[in-house]
Amino acid sequence: MSPYEHGEVFVTEDGAETDLDLGHYERFIDENLTKNSSITTGKIYSNVIEKERKGEYLGKTVQVIPHITNEIKEQIYNVDTGNIDIVITEVGGTVGDIESLPFLETIRQIGIEKPKEDVLYIHVTLLPYISGSNEVKSKPTQHSVKELQSLGIKPDILVCRTDYPVEEKMREKIALFCNVRKEDVITNSTCNNLYEVPLMLEKTGLAISVCEHLNLIKEANNTEWEEMIKNINQIQEKVKIAIVGKYVQLHDAYISVAESLKHGGYVNGVEVEIDYIDADMVNEKNAEEILKEENGILVPGGFGNRGIDGKISAIKYARENNIPFLGICLGMQMAVVEFARHILELKGANSEEFNEKTKDPVIHIMEEQKNIKHKGGTMRLGNYPCKIKNETKAYEIYENTSIVERHRHRYEFNNKYKTILEKEGLICSGVSPDGKLVEIIEYDKNDFFIACQFHPEFKSRPNRPAPLFKAFVKATKEYKKNKK
Ligand code: GLN
Repeated sequence: MSPYEHGEVFVTEDGAETDLDLGHYERFIDENLTKNSSITTGKIYSNVIEKERKGEYLGKTVQVIPHITNEIKEQIYNVDTGNIDIVITEVGGTVGDIESLPFLETIRQIGIEKPKEDVLYIHVTLLPYISGSNEVKSKPTQHSVKELQSLGIKPDILVCRTDYPVEEKMREKIALFCNVRKEDVITNSTCNNLYEVPLMLEKTGLAISVCEHLNLIKEANNTEWEEMIKNINQIQEKVKIAIVGKYVQLHDAYISVAESLKHGGYVNGVEVEIDYIDADMVNEKNAEEILKEENGILVPGGFGNRGIDGKISAIKYARENNIPFLGICLGMQMAVVEFARHILELKGANSEEFNEKTKDPVIHIMEEQKNIKHKGGTMRLGNYPCKIKNETKAYEIYENTSIVERHRHRYEFNNKYKTILEKEGLICSGVSPDGKLVEIIEYDKNDFFIACQFHPEFKSRPNRPAPLFKAFVKATKEYKKNKK
C-alpha cells in the first residue's frame, strides 16, 4: 500500500499490516483487533487457490459464487472467537465498485442464512450541498440505495453524511424514496472534533435504531466519553509540533501519529497544532528558519532514501537547541545516525537501508534477514516485548520495566556501536528481553530527547494516550512556557 495513495498502514498486535480504518476502529471501540479483522481480495483468492491445489474442492468447478463468497463468509464468521456479541463488517468503497461485488453478495447471503434479528444492514451515503441554490440534495442517496437494492440488499438504516443541517422534510423524503422508516434515516453531520461523532450519532438516534433492529438492550453509558469531550472543549492553550516526514502531502499517511499527538494534548490540556514539514525541504542551513516556531519535533517512521538528510538535520537542530524530540522507528534510526555523524564524528555513518557499503553501519540488517530475496513479509511485525532500564526517562514515562509495543521495520540498531555511543551520552534505555535489540534510546543532556524502534501510535486511545505521546506533549508545553 503506497502511503501517498492509501495513507498509513496500520499494524495490529498480531502483526497484520492493514488499512488505516482499523486504527479508527481500535481508537473508537477500544478493542485490540487482529489479522482476522482485515479481509482483502488478495487474501481471499490466495486461500481459495491454496484450497483448490490441496484438492479440497474435489474436482468441482471453482467459481466466484460459491467458492469466493464462501471463503469471505468463513473469514467473517471466524472473527467470532466465542466471546463476541456483535461483529461489525464494513465493506469499503462505493456500491457499484467492481472490487466489492463478491463482498456485497456475501453479506447478502449472510442475511438469509442467519436469524432475522441477528443481521442488520447500515448503508452510509452522502448528502451533498449545492451552494448556488443553497440546498442539500438527496439524489445520490436515492441512487446508491437503488444500486444496493439491485444487488439484493435492502438497507435497514441509512447513515447520511452531511456538512449541513438536514430538515425533517428531507428525512421524510429520504425515508419514502429509499424504503426505510423515518427514524432509521440518521444524519451524520460534521463535528468540531472527530471524537464527538459517537455522541452526535447517539443524539440522532443511531444506537436506538440499531438496538431495536437487533433486539438488544437500549441503555447507553457514555459518561466517560462525555467527560472527555467536555474537557477537550475547554482547552485554550496550544502547542505547535512539527512532523518532519516524507509523505506529508497526504496527512492520512501519519494519521495514528497525528491522533496520538491529539490524545497527548487532551490529558495535558493543550491543543496540538501539527505542522507537516516535508523532510526534503530541510537542511542544516535552513533548519532553524523552518523549525524555530515549533515547540516540539517529531520524526516518524518511513522507508527509502528520500528526505533522509532533512530528517537528520531536523534531529540535529532539536538536539543542539534542546527542543523536545520524539523519534519513531525510522526516526530513531536517523537519531542514531545523527549522533554517530555529529558527536562521534563518523562522517559516513548510515543505515544499511540507504548505503549498503557504508563504513559505519550504525543501523543494519540482521544476519538472518540478509539472504531473504522477497522483501514482502520479512519485517519485524506486531507486538514485541521490551525491557526498560530503571532510572531512565523511558522508565519515568512508562512507570514499568516491561512493556509491549507494536513494530513494523526491517533494520535494527547495530550493537557494535553501542559502547562508543553510550560513552558519549546516548542511553539505550529499552532493549529486547534477550538484550540483542535496542528498542528505546534517549539523550540525557537534553530535557526531552527520546526515540523508539517501535510504533507507540498504534496503541494510543483518546482517553488513554500512549505514554510516550503523553510525555512528549507535556515536554512541548513546558518548553513553550520556559521559552516565553
Ligand atoms: N525503513 C526502516 C526499516 O525498515 C524503518 C521502518 C519504519 O519506520 N517503519 O527498518
